[in-house]
Amino acid sequence: MRKKAVILLSGGLDSTLAAKLMMKQGIELEAINFVTTFCTCTKKGCQHQASKVASELGIRITVKNITGEYLEIVKNPRFGYGSGANPCIDCRIFTFRKAKAFMEETGASFVVTGEVLGERPMSQRREAMMTIERESGLERLILRPLSAKLFEPTLAEEEGVVNREALLKISGRSRKPQIELARELSLNEYPCPAGGCLLTDPRFSKRAKDLLAHNDFTLDNVMLLKAGRHFRLSEELKLIVGRNEKENEIILNLSKAGDLLMAAKDLPGPIALLKGRYLDNDLRLALAVTARYVDKNEDYPLILMQYWKKGDEDRSSYEAAPMDEKKVERMQI
Ligand code: SF4
Repeated sequence: MRKKAVILLSGGLDSTLAAKLMMKQGIELEAINFVTTFCTCTKKGCQHQASKVASELGIRITVKNITGEYLEIVKNPRFGYGSGANPCIDCRIFTFRKAKAFMEETGASFVVTGEVLGERPMSQRREAMMTIERESGLERLILRPLSAKLFEPTLAEEEGVVNREALLKISGRSRKPQIELARELSLNEYPCPAGGCLLTDPRFSKRAKDLLAHNDFTLDNVMLLKAGRHFRLSEELKLIVGRNEKENEIILNLSKAGDLLMAAKDLPGPIALLKGRYLDNDLRLALAVTARYVDKNEDYPLILMQYWKKGDEDRSSYEAAPMDEKKVERMQI
């Protein structure tokens, strides 16, 4: 067995510590970082953080965006969802299979992770970790330096490539031991301590589950979930209303030819996007919901709205009465 491993490096505290512990033992590391559109570590993206850490540690890193394939995992997770729309066990199996392929490609002998037993409710329970290991074809090949002594020795430990005695037995959700270890290893910066995943966010998950329930879980629709207020108007129709100029722009950019857009004629306020099949009364409903968010003159109860098909010059007009807040809330996802 070679003294070379692939490390799943997120750039967070745990995986950075795991890398440091391995490097102390003279293990050659090759980092891999998987990103999806659901990652939310830093404003510049998880990828940025992982690359920064890799360069500080002097490790070569490969970053792979796996969003396309990953959407299929979110649609049909064999092991179900966590508290939100997060299919953590399937997600880990998927990324560990990719890590295994990468290990073989790069001539590494095992995979290192920053996992800590019991730190995360779904994917870091012992039973789940064993399932993930088995299903990804990496049995006894995943070394978790932070919790290694709480598991059976891996092949790398058994063969003496890694000294088990120098590994740790951290478990649970408290991050104190990791913070202490970071201090010992002179590691001062770790901006993404717990990792970030939109699929665990309650609001985002609710919207994601609405898309899943309506068979609309496509990349374009998922990207739209990140902007605006979302309303389910019917089984076949959704309305997305921007909350500020930046979101208006995102909505415009993500709209497709044929989508219906709407905005107030001469008043500041949102751009809204109507997606799906609609009848005249649905259109009036969407205009009334959008009008609710227009900066209006309180003395004038109606708002002159315009609507147009994306890519079409012609605009139609309609005077809408802004919908009552309670009714609007009932449709909001
Ligand atoms: S929190 Fe998100 S990224 Fe992390 S394992 Fe779960 S689904 Fe995957």
